[in-house]
Amino acid sequence: MKALLIIDMLNDFIKPDGVLYCGKKAEEIIPEIIKLKNEFKEKNFPIIYLCDAHELQDEEFSSFPPHCIKGTKGAEIINELSPEEGDFIIYKTRFSGFYKTDLETLLKKLNIKELYLTGVCTSICIMDTAADAFYRGFKIKIPVKAVADFDEEFHKFALKRLEKIYKAELIY
Ligand SMILES: [Zn+2]
Repeated sequence: MKALLIIDMLNDFIKPDGVLYCGKKAEEIIPEIIKLKNEFKEKNFPIIYLCDAHELQDEEFSSFPPHCIKGTKGAEIINELSPEEGDFIIYKTRFSGFYKTDLETLLKKLNIKELYLTGVCTSICIMDTAADAFYRGFKIKIPVKAVADFDEEFHKFALKRLEKIYKAELIY
């Protein structure tokens, strides 16, 4: 069984007026994720959103400006990818979707072995979520047109590292 992870496709990261806007590249992956979402839904494979959700004060704000504050517009999933009935939403406070969340429990319950990682940023939340997935024995797939980074060099390096170190299969 496989699952589609949609990571941090939130207003603060994806929309030009967002606090941590990741750039045009991040907007360009939206249609690709919609396509994947439809394919997964058709076959009844689960869709899991991983969403940054911070308190007003958060340690992470020592390295990044305050973003995705719980209850604000910036923390909401972009309209184009609004969750539908049956989709799962996991809120996180760190880069990895596994850190202090119920993601692992959910994946076990759903008998998921294979994770398709999509969203932003390739070198941060995709990378760290992939690492934690790898340690837990999940197979990782990265649809390359469905991930983006604010830094193109980081993006390229991250894809290489994901493939070499975490045995991710890059799908072009
Ligand atoms: Zn954050």
